[in-house]
Amino acid sequence: MIKFLDIQRITELHSPEIHEAASRVINSGWYLLGEEIARFEKEYARYIGTDYCVGVANGLDALRIILRAYKEMGVMHEGDEIIVPANTFIASIIAITDNRLVPVLVEPNINSYQIDDAKIESAITPKTKAIMIVHLYGQCAYSEKIGQLCQKYNLKLIEDNAQASGCKYNGKTTGSLGDVAGHSFYPGKNLGALGDGGAVTTSDRLLDKTVRSLANYGSTAKYIFDYQGYNSRLDEIQAAILSVKLSRLDKDNQRRKEVARYYLENINHPEIILPKVPDRDAHVFHLFVIRSHRRDSLREHLHDQGIEALIHYPVPPHKQKAYKEWNDMELPITEKIHAEVLSLPIAPYITDKEIKSVVDAVNAFC
Ligand SMILES: *Cc1c(COP(=O)(O)O)cnc(C)c1O
Repeated sequence: MIKFLDIQRITELHSPEIHEAASRVINSGWYLLGEEIARFEKEYARYIGTDYCVGVANGLDALRIILRAYKEMGVMHEGDEIIVPANTFIASIIAITDNRLVPVLVEPNINSYQIDDAKIESAITPKTKAIMIVHLYGQCAYSEKIGQLCQKYNLKLIEDNAQASGCKYNGKTTGSLGDVAGHSFYPGKNLGALGDGGAVTTSDRLLDKTVRSLANYGSTAKYIFDYQGYNSRLDEIQAAILSVKLSRLDKDNQRRKEVARYYLENINHPEIILPKVPDRDAHVFHLFVIRSHRRDSLREHLHDQGIEALIHYPVPPHKQKAYKEWNDMELPITEKIHAEVLSLPIAPYITDKEIKSVVDAVNAFC
C-alpha cells in the first residue's frame, strides 16, 4: 500500500538529528520561551525574508492573532470585511469570523485553483480592510495585480502560508510578499513539527510587538497585561525540531518538485486534468492535485491498486454546517473544484518505484 502521507517516514528522514534536538531540550529543563524558540524565530525570519517572526501554537492561531492585532492597533474594527478565496481550508475563514470580521468569499481561478485576481476588485467595499491570499496546495497565490489593488484601496495583504513553506515568487519567499503572513507547522505540512506549531512573519515592528504580546496573554512585561490575550506559544521542543527540519526544507521541497515533474510528464489520461504550473519556482507541491469528472471512481480504482489518494477538500466552507448562513450561496467554480479534485501521494521520502506505480495505476484507469 502506498499511503497518501507517511509521517513516520518523514521523521526518519530527519533522524537522528531531531532526536538529538528533542533530547537537548528535555535535558535542559527549560520548555517554554527559551533559547530554542528565540533561535528558530531568528532563523525562520531570515529564511522567509522578514525582519520578525513570532512562534505561536498553530496556524489557525497565527491568522487569528494577526487579525486581532490589527484590531488592537486600530487598523480593523468589528464588521470590517476581509477578502478570502472561497475554496480555502476552513481555518482561514475561522480566523476572520472569530474576530467578528466578515469574510468576503471570492471564487478561485479554475486553472490555478488560487484566488481569481480578476474577481477581487468588484468585491471591494468601503468596509474592506485586507485581502487574505492563501497559497493553496503549495502554489503562490500572489500576483502583481493583487499588490496593486492593495495599494489602490489601502488594504493590508495577509498571506496564509500554511501550505507553502519555502515557495518562491520572483526571488522572494512566500510569507514576505505581503504585510504579514501566518504559517502552520502541523505535522503534514511541508515544514512540519512533531505536534502543533505555527508562526507569524512580518517586517512591521508594531505588528510584531502586538502579535508577540497577544500570544503571551497580552503581556508587555512580566505580569503586566495590555490586552486580553491568548496563550499561544510554540514550545522549545518543537522549535528545536523545526530548526533541524528548516535546514533541510529546500532539499525536501526539491524532491517534491521532482516527484511533481515526474507526474506531470508521465500521467497521460483523457479524463484527468493535471495541475498547470507556469512558474516552477512558485509551487512547492504541498499537494499534487488532479481533477476528474469521475473523481470518486478514480479514487476507488487507485485504492484497489494499493494507492491512497485523498480529497482536499470534499465540502467547501460555504456548504458547511459551521457556516449555515452561507449554505444557499452559489459559488460554481469552488463547488466544481470540490467535486472533482483528488490529491496523489507526494512527499520528500517517496521513491522512484513508488511514483512509477502511482503513474501506472492512474494511467490504467478506465
Ligand atoms: C493547515 C492550514 C491552516 C491551519 O493550520 P493549523 O496549524 O492546522 O492550525 C490554515 N490555513 C490553511 C490553508 C491550512 O492548510
